[in-house]
Amino acid sequence: MPELFKGAGIIPALFLCLPAGAEPRLAMPVDCTLGETCFIQNYMDRDPGPGARDFTCAGLSYDTHKGTDFGLPSLRAMTAGVDVHAAAPGVVRGVRDGMIDRVYTPQDEARIDGRDCGNGVVIQHGDGWETQYCHLMNGTVRVRSGQLVETGDVLGRIGLSGRTQFPHLHISVRHDGEPVDPFTPDGDPAACRTGEARTMWIDDITYQPGAIMAAGFATGVPDYETVKAGAAAVERLARDADALVLWGYAFGGRTGDVMTLRIEGPEGTFFETEQTLEKDQAQFYRAGGKRLRSPLSPGRYSGHIALIRDGTPVSEEVATLIVE
Ligand SMILES: [Zn+2]
Repeated sequence: MPELFKGAGIIPALFLCLPAGAEPRLAMPVDCTLGETCFIQNYMDRDPGPGARDFTCAGLSYDTHKGTDFGLPSLRAMTAGVDVHAAAPGVVRGVRDGMIDRVYTPQDEARIDGRDCGNGVVIQHGDGWETQYCHLMNGTVRVRSGQLVETGDVLGRIGLSGRTQFPHLHISVRHDGEPVDPFTPDGDPAACRTGEARTMWIDDITYQPGAIMAAGFATGVPDYETVKAGAAAVERLARDADALVLWGYAFGGRTGDVMTLRIEGPEGTFFETEQTLEKDQAQFYRAGGKRLRSPLSPGRYSGHIALIRDGTPVSEEVATLIVE
């Protein structure tokens, strides 16, 4: 029905198409595969005090965070382009574009000047419901104020604008101006959600308590900037390389978590190590390997990485390498 009114700019027509008082059902707002090419790294903070906890009462949040963060594993993935979609039909109430994509540091405070959302879009869904989309890529916002949008319409691309330190979409859901956690729209906001509680999402979204986002081989311990850029992995290597290193990049690390790294080569296990996290880390990477004193055996190598919590793997990843 709404397409009949498209371009007419008659905002009240929208509300005729929505059941009165309807809470919107939300579609995935990002064009990527959760758990593979993007990861929910932070949820809304349900802790009223100075601490932070997500709707499961675990720590995937930070103090006063009022939305859900869909993160990408690298700047390379961001540059390749990941679309942001309207999660529900509505009318665009506000847009901002033109802010640069840059990792936030305290020196950027003046530049950002309160525009923490960066490039963004606000959509009203009727009856006081709205969604806000933040940190879009500079120059990609493709809707304008007053425009009617359908579920799935492209709003822009995931970027790094505003107050953000990694490429992600932050989406906020509000009702009458109050933040709502789409993972627990009902009940006591301070209670931990259990079982099959209702969410606002159309799709089942599996909660990941942390995960390895990327893994690969390198010829030395890569620096963190290279890992975050998505430029650390090599897939082919000459036999006379100086070193063989395996690395893994993860989110949601908790004190006491163990990351195991194991390289299997043509002649069996080539290297293995395990490293324990000394503190909670929203994002982190670990690497391990060997300096080479003689040429590698040619063939296929596999790198096995696991993130282990309380003795149980939370996430596992395998990287491959051809030595020739
Ligand atoms: Zn956020």
